[in-house]
Amino acid sequence: MKLTVLGSAAAEAIPNPYCSCDICQNARRKGGHEVRGRAAALINDDLLIDLGPDIVSAANRFDLYLGHLSTVLVTHRHEDHWLPNNLAWREPGFCPTPVAPLTVYGPGDALRDVEPYTDRATALSAHVVTGGDRWTSGRYEITAVPASHGHGKIEALLYVVVEGPRRVLYATDTSTLSEAAWEVLRPWAPLDLILLDATSGLRSGGSAHHGFEKYVETRAQLVQEGLLGDQTSLVAHHFSHNGGLTHEDLIAKYEPYGVTIAYDGCVFSL
Ligand SMILES: [Zn+2]
Ligand SMILES: [Zn+2]
Ligand SMILES: [Zn+2]
Repeated sequence: MKLTVLGSAAAEAIPNPYCSCDICQNARRKGGHEVRGRAAALINDDLLIDLGPDIVSAANRFDLYLGHLSTVLVTHRHEDHWLPNNLAWREPGFCPTPVAPLTVYGPGDALRDVEPYTDRATALSAHVVTGGDRWTSGRYEITAVPASHGHGKIEALLYVVVEGPRRVLYATDTSTLSEAAWEVLRPWAPLDLILLDATSGLRSGGSAHHGFEKYVETRAQLVQEGLLGDQTSLVAHHFSHNGGLTHEDLIAKYEPYGVTIAYDGCVFSL
């Protein structure tokens, strides 16, 4: 299994083009890993997690062909994760070459936006899922895990994706996990790769995200539950400039805990 991080930022990206804070200025100056697009990840070449506003540019930055996509997992309807109009670019009027049949899975309040595209698009279907659901899509076994993201105005999901013996947890956007989430996760211990929300850096993250302190607490719980074992890679993911940490700062802070820092284009091979 190969996972490519297409984007590693929170909603407003880094740099936020309107912002002149130290983190944004540093990103403009240094470029490279300091510049982040909105979060998404591609597993192999056929499963995408989050169809956000930077998918087209990320595919082109990292030389990726998306015509093989057969599964899209939507975490939640926030605009940095879900721009359904991206589904239009598969349609014959925009794309004259064949594309694989595609099923989009996600919470009901996000997937109602797929409907306009199911009428026109090539072999596109939508399937509403909720926390605790488990299903098969192509070669993947997928489990939806309830996220803790804000005060319940929208439904947000995390996903465990299993291919053969390999198990990945994609866990943004979320604050401290609920007991319901741990219950869904337990059967998958130990995991091979975990991408965990680290949005808020020096801040707490509140009810929607993880700051550094909360991240360390969730890491400890992952160890206690046996989900994070000796062979598991733990990755911090989905960063805001408001967290006050550059990529270099993030490495210095998280490395002592054995945590890798995601960046746009980084690849994990399992
Ligand atoms: Zn987000
Ligand atoms: Zn900024
Ligand atoms: Zn969100």
